[in-house]
Amino acid sequence: MANLVLFGAPGAGKGTQAELMNAWLPVPRVSSGDLFRYNLSNNTALGQTAKAYMDKGELVPDDVTVAMVAERLQRADCDAGVILDGFPRTVAQAEALDRLLGEMGRRLDAVLFIQVARQTLLQRLAGRWTCPSCGAVYHEVFNPERNKGLCDVDGAKLFQREDDTPETQARRIDVYQEQTAPLEAYYRTRGLLIEIDGEQDIEGVQAQIKTAVQAL
Ligand code: ADP
Ligand code: ADP
Repeated sequence: MANLVLFGAPGAGKGTQAELMNAWLPVPRVSSGDLFRYNLSNNTALGQTAKAYMDKGELVPDDVTVAMVAERLQRADCDAGVILDGFPRTVAQAEALDRLLGEMGRRLDAVLFIQVARQTLLQRLAGRWTCPSCGAVYHEVFNPERNKGLCDVDGAKLFQREDDTPETQARRIDVYQEQTAPLEAYYRTRGLLIEIDGEQDIEGVQAQIKTAVQAL
């Protein structure tokens, strides 16, 4: 059983690291951003609500986000634990998560805080390419695909997210500073925060995460 949060600014590498953790930690990754994008592509009411916020780089309201993640956590595959990616992003969401896990007789084991400087975040977001079918994430310089423009896993044509424009990227990092960064203190106080040097290359970051989780 492992209930973990991957915490860090947009572009820190949360999704990339969560994907690699699959190889040694058999618990599902739950990404609130991916859940919103799934709802968007299926044109659900939830997707419609979220779109206006996502397009501007703002956070979707807490009640909507918490209800969506709660529903996902209650599915059977999360019984063995979960790696949360992109959630919680506000103190209210963190409190809701504590409540939700408590109701399930569980608690968070650790919050892995992937620390990356703003300049690096912008470089990473600017070169990010995503597979529309499997969600694999590439970077045109730091983690390029083998065949230009095509996913290594399933060959689908890679795309750049609509909210990865320079304006939205900068806004998302500001929103992180204003609304999400206070979670650092929230989790440090509770003794759950583990700091990871996110400036290292992808394998270097993964090695730190593996060592930290195995020591729990
Ligand atoms: P990134 O990988 O760049 O950090 P995400 O895929 O996590 O971006 O999120 C994309 C967008 O989805 C956010 O800008 C926000 O609008 C919305 N979103 C994702 N997770 C949350 C959350 N926990 N609370 C509120 N909004 C969220
Ligand atoms: P997040 O989920 O935190 O928003 P991503 O996992 O989507 O971040 O990574 C953002 C971009 O940076 C992607 O293009 C990814 O390939 C690249 N990336 C992730 N981790 C690293 C790293 N340690 N070094 C260089 N590039 C990275």
